[in-house]
Amino acid sequence: MKEKRSPSQLEASWKETDMAGGQKVDAMVMIMRTNGCCWVREGGCTMCGYREASLGGVTEDDLLKQLDQALSRYRDEPFVKIYTSGSFLDDNEVPPSVRAKIFEAFKGCQRILFESRPEFITDESLADVPANVTVALGLESSDPQVLETAVHKGFTPDDILRAGTLLKSKGLGVRTYLLLKTPFMTERMAIEDAVRSARFADQFSDEISVNPLNVQRGTYVERLWKRGDFRSPWIWSLIEVFRRLSGTVDARVMSSPSGGGASRGVHNCGECDKAALDAVERFSYTQDPADLDVKCECQAKWRAYLESEAILGTPADLDRGLENDLALRM
Ligand code: SF4
Ligand SMILES: [Zn+2]
Repeated sequence: MKEKRSPSQLEASWKETDMAGGQKVDAMVMIMRTNGCCWVREGGCTMCGYREASLGGVTEDDLLKQLDQALSRYRDEPFVKIYTSGSFLDDNEVPPSVRAKIFEAFKGCQRILFESRPEFITDESLADVPANVTVALGLESSDPQVLETAVHKGFTPDDILRAGTLLKSKGLGVRTYLLLKTPFMTERMAIEDAVRSARFADQFSDEISVNPLNVQRGTYVERLWKRGDFRSPWIWSLIEVFRRLSGTVDARVMSSPSGGGASRGVHNCGECDKAALDAVERFSYTQDPADLDVKCECQAKWRAYLESEAILGTPADLDRGLENDLALRM
């Protein structure tokens, strides 16, 4: 039976490291339970499983209790990340009075990060946002057609450009998320789309976080994945994106893949996944392409995969297709 979740409890919190002021620092992450992303009511994005993390009827009082829990775990980490599985600047998720209390509670820390859809980023909503804030924008792709049809994002790249430019004009930080390999893309298309999108995002971003698609439960992408019509990207593809961007964009390029090494997440052959993910993490801090030097025999298989997909003209999971084919013949 599914555990009943209390609206006054934080969904989760943990400690990790990230960058603030050019240094690697400790960070506290808190995931708040809110009324959820407004876009989920319109069907949501094709890869997003956040509808699971939000509840209805979360009151101001509930949110303040969640803040108290976060503060009881807070140990003066310089960086605090506040995720709501939606938009922190949406009044229906986090009312302005609660936002003000959160800003007050963390006013001493070097950096606060939260996420928002662009429609909530306005002169009015930013009026009380303090200077230590970075807003994370889920651009995913700079291709309007990809956003509309493959991601079902409900906004355009130009909406993100407007929001990012406004944030920069107010002196606030911008971290832009890109999605590596949206549905219906071959591996090669995914690499090219991420590189193009990063160049677009560079004009208004301090950081560009490349998020390889991780297949979440209950999503449209999960249906494609289950029937073999989607393979999560290779870690080699993520490394290739980093190599192509290295030294050619001003923003820090980074990635902290969720589900890395598992079949639902970004993965290679299994043998080299840890080494390749460690390389991705190192590069995310140093920006030094020498940190991406990892070798494994499966790199040749990945190259062949890129070729075969292009020849066959399909984004289907060729590995699994082959396994199924062999199983049928046995
Ligand atoms: S990806 Fe973001 S905008 Fe899309 S449904 Fe999920 S929380 Fe909402
Ligand atoms: Zn390998």
